[in-house]
This record gives sequence, C-alpha cells and structure tokens, in this order.
Amino acid sequence: MPFLDLGAASAPIQPGIEAALLHAARSGYFIGGPELEQFETAFAAYLGAPHCLGVANGLDALYLGLRAMGVGPGDEVIVPGNTYIATWLAVSQCGAVPVPVEPREDTYNLDADAVAAAITARTRAILPVHLYGQPADMDALNAVAAQHGLQVLQDAAQAHGASYKGQKVGASGTCTWSFYPSKNLGALGDGGALTTGDAAIAEAVNLLRNYGSAVKYENEVKGVNSRLDPLQAAVLGVKLEALDKATKRRREIAAQYSAAFAKAGLDHPVVPEWADPVWHLYVVRHDQRDAFQHRLADSGIGTVIHYPIPPHLQKAYSDAGHAPGSLPLSERLAREVLSLPMCPAQTDAQTEYVIDRVIALS
Ligand SMILES: *Cc1c(COP(=O)(O)O)cnc(C)c1O
Repeated sequence: MPFLDLGAASAPIQPGIEAALLHAARSGYFIGGPELEQFETAFAAYLGAPHCLGVANGLDALYLGLRAMGVGPGDEVIVPGNTYIATWLAVSQCGAVPVPVEPREDTYNLDADAVAAAITARTRAILPVHLYGQPADMDALNAVAAQHGLQVLQDAAQAHGASYKGQKVGASGTCTWSFYPSKNLGALGDGGALTTGDAAIAEAVNLLRNYGSAVKYENEVKGVNSRLDPLQAAVLGVKLEALDKATKRRREIAAQYSAAFAKAGLDHPVVPEWADPVWHLYVVRHDQRDAFQHRLADSGIGTVIHYPIPPHLQKAYSDAGHAPGSLPLSERLAREVLSLPMCPAQTDAQTEYVIDRVIALS
C-alpha cells in the first residue's frame, strides 16, 4: 500500500483534466491569458482572498512575498526550526538571515512566545508555516508581530482549504501556496501562488514576477521570471473544483486513524478546537522510528519522513553556525516523526489495514 497514489487520487477527474489541457493548448495563450486569470480569480474566491497571483512554484511565492514586504540584506526573518528547507531558502535568497525557533510540542507549529523571545532590532518578518495542513495560531503570532511592527508571511504550501477559527487560511493576511503535484491542490508539474489582502503587496509581486515590469520593456525593479504556466492553471482550475471532496476524504481517514490510535493509547496528532486541518500529512511519533518504519515497510505499508534533517543541520546552512543540539525539539522531531499513508483514494479497508499494522508493530 503506497504512501500516496496520485494517479488513483485524480482518476475520477482525469477526463476533466485532459479536456482542460486540450482547451488550454488550443487557446493560443502560452504565457498568461484567460486560463491563468480564471484560476487566480477562482482560487482567490475559494479562499476569500482579495488578490491572487500565480507564480512558478511555492519557493518563488515565498521569495517574492518577502521581497514585496521589503525583506533584504541585514534583515532577520523568524522561521520554524521544523519545516521544509524552502521556508529558509526563501529568506536566504533575499539576502536576509533565517532565525529559527522551536515549535510547540503539541501541534508542531510556531510558538508565539518562542517567536517573541527571538525578536531583535534586525527582525523584519515572521514566517509561520501551517505544517502538515494544520493552521498555526495566527491571532497569537499576529499580536506579536503587531507589537513589534513586523511583517507576517504565511507559508500555506500544505494547507489548501484549512480553516482557522472558522475562516479559511488565506482569507486574511498574506499567504504563499505551492501546487507541487503531491500537495493537496497539485498541478501536473510545478506551480505556486501568493494571496493577500494587501493591494500594495499584490502590486509589488505582480511587478517582481514579471522582470520588475508592468509596462513592456520598462523595468522598475530587479524582478525575476516566475510564471504560473497557463496549462497548469487550467489543470488547477479542474482540481480546485474537486478539492473539498478530497479534503473531506482526508478528514475521514484522519478521524479513523486518530480514533483507533487514541483507543490503543498510541501517539496521534493534537488538533486545537479552533483548527480544521486538511491533513496534507498524518504524522505520528515513535521513539524507535526507523525500526518502526522498517516493520511497516515489511507489511507493505509506505511511509515518509517529513523531514529527516532539520534545515539548521543541513550542509547548505553549515555556514550559519547552528550546532547540533541548538534546537533540541526540532532535532528530536526529525528523529521521531513518521507520515502514514494519506490519500483521498485510500479505501476504508486500506485505512483499517494501516491501523491494524501500526497498533501491532508500534
Ligand atoms: C512544498 C513546500 C514548499 C515549496 O514549494 P515548491 O512548489 O516545491 O517550491 C515550501 N514550503 C513548504 C512548507 C512546502 O511543503
């Protein structure tokens, strides 16, 4: 049983995807155009976000969002110690310094008190990640940001459709999205977007994603080429219509897992009452994780580790001087977390098999 079967997940909408691709291929628009605009409008409406700008991928969305907020050399940006490295790389690409903090141990999301303690005179922004599809506590984080005059950019690459206090992630603030194929809303290749309620940020990203140019051959800032391909936008439009159904299925599977693991006294994700996660990943912890993962593999169950090496211990950040042991919780999570199969196409029989094996092999 695979960790995620992308083919099976999109099988019910495959004819719609292929029709949309054909339509886009025949449209005569290969950069920008109506397919892109339609998707940007639809995704903004789905989230309740005033502005949506398609870009090439999730990393670019983060980088352009930070640039639009004025982050640059000499600045510090507070990031989670336990995230995918893209969150950090976007900060580094701006010439700024990612300053990691430990997550909350219950939700694995950014802790507002830890953020407040990490603020210095150089801090410019806070970059929370809605990790595994569960929203971070934005009211607490926004309060810290407001108190210190900081920008907030939310990495929502794993949280399409998640809700925080009854409101969709993206309905307020500035969020970045990835449409990498395995994300909850995934393209047939790379894609990304930034959504925001701030017209100035939307305008800045609109310039930056197009060589810094609003009028052809007039370049106001040093921008980049970061476009959401209209073919991918056409596919994403079809997939967006099916997103709520897929999310509903993920929530059913997560509820089945959690009820069974709770009954068996096993570790399972903690969800605050104000959070409605979309279960991009269903992550459990085990103190002998590698052996546990091997036992599950021997039973034919595919699992993945998100993530085995925290960014501060990556060779890429060896110049930053973060010693092993400097972020003990992030490092322990890297040793203990394991993502169980989570796919909208998963059957109840498959879910029950995973539950049975996890309980037997824990
Ligand atoms: C996937 C992901 C990204 C990067 O998205 P890409 O589209 O692969 O560039 C950034 N942050 C998080 C948390 C992610 O999961």
